Amino acid sequence: MSDSKFATNALHAGHDVKAHGGTRAVPLYQNTSYVFEDSDHAANLFNLSQPGFIYTRLNNPTNDVLEQRMAALEGGIASVATASGMAALSTTFLTLLKSGDHIVTSNSLYGGTYNLFGVTLPRLGITTTFVDPSDPANFEKALQDNTRAVFVESLGNPKLDVLDLKAISEVAKKAKVPFIVDNTVATPALINPIEHGANIVIHALTKYINGNGTALGGAIVDAGTFDYSNGNFPEFTEPSPGYHGLVYHEALGPAAFIAKARIEGLRDLGAAPSPFNIWQIIQGLETLEVRMKHISENALALAEWLQGRDVVTWVNYPGLKSSRYYDLGQKYLPKGQSGLITFGVKGGFESAKKIADHTKLFSLLANIGDTKSLIIHPASTTHQQLDDEAQESTGVTKDLIRLSVGLEDIDDLKADLENAFATIDA
Ligand SMILES: *Cc1c(COP(=O)(O)O)cnc(C)c1O
Repeated sequence: MSDSKFATNALHAGHDVKAHGGTRAVPLYQNTSYVFEDSDHAANLFNLSQPGFIYTRLNNPTNDVLEQRMAALEGGIASVATASGMAALSTTFLTLLKSGDHIVTSNSLYGGTYNLFGVTLPRLGITTTFVDPSDPANFEKALQDNTRAVFVESLGNPKLDVLDLKAISEVAKKAKVPFIVDNTVATPALINPIEHGANIVIHALTKYINGNGTALGGAIVDAGTFDYSNGNFPEFTEPSPGYHGLVYHEALGPAAFIAKARIEGLRDLGAAPSPFNIWQIIQGLETLEVRMKHISENALALAEWLQGRDVVTWVNYPGLKSSRYYDLGQKYLPKGQSGLITFGVKGGFESAKKIADHTKLFSLLANIGDTKSLIIHPASTTHQQLDDEAQESTGVTKDLIRLSVGLEDIDDLKADLENAFATIDA
């Protein structure tokens, strides 16, 4: 399957039709447990000498199809599905790190991730340095002796900054720590971070991959390219008391991390997804490539149109020639720059709030990546608790409106915004 192209893998990878009773669609296995042939069979499953299903918190045949498919689409060796994007992030960092370790990360991050690094992990003794990601040298300057991971988003939300992934991956490589990339906003249809040096790729399947706003889910994809025996990760080279003395690096080689994320991460932290949610996500994933192509075209056309409106003071979309991320966007996201646009309006906070309150097709809500178009005014909603300085550093100015452009006809989307613009007198 890995020889096939993206659109083919999105429909077929990981689904062995014969093994699933000839089913053309991926079946939903809505069960918690699996009958063992006998106790020896059970013992073999538990000690990993034989592959098979034990309990849905660890693995499930429906989830298994999605996991194989995500690995194929990102160019990884294996993946683990989780209950949400945040579950993928927390399971990854708690599998990899321990008290005393340190993360270097971009400061242009999804809000939940910002809090995980800034508040929750520090409570467990794992600290983070946030850096301005526009210069890869900033990552290098922030490295410490105890740094054990470098993290970024391939397309930052809501700044929509495209990062020089290759240059940042070199910093991580030199420091002998894994380079972890959240690829939620761009999706594997537009970029494969592994090709640019990522060792682990994170997804909120909740967003574009599902695409229909019906189910939460997450995925951790392992490139299998990081050497955990380099001295920085003793948990992978010494017998694990958490899995009857298993030495992960020795027993599993390039799959050491992703195996630990499943057999200790899912087992102990419990962030496993519902098979029903994963089954719904599979329906969405089948059409990811055509959706991302069309969504990117719609977003570029709308961004260009917004630039010509009187009330609009600035437009940020990495596909626009006027964007400071245009060149990096063409280099890293040549197939399209996804569906998020931010723009500012005359009259600042009050005007932006009023516009977000007066669209009809664009729904006012706190999500992205739906087939339906979405709008939000972060300064009065998602980011209202941040002080002025924090709003500035996250790129959320008072006049900023964020759009998540969907698949509606572009003329209807323009008309909807035009009607909302008419409600302000700027
Ligand atoms: C939404 C999102 C997440 C979190 O995903 P959930 O499924 O909501 O937990 C993580 N990263 C990015 C970039 C996101 O947009």
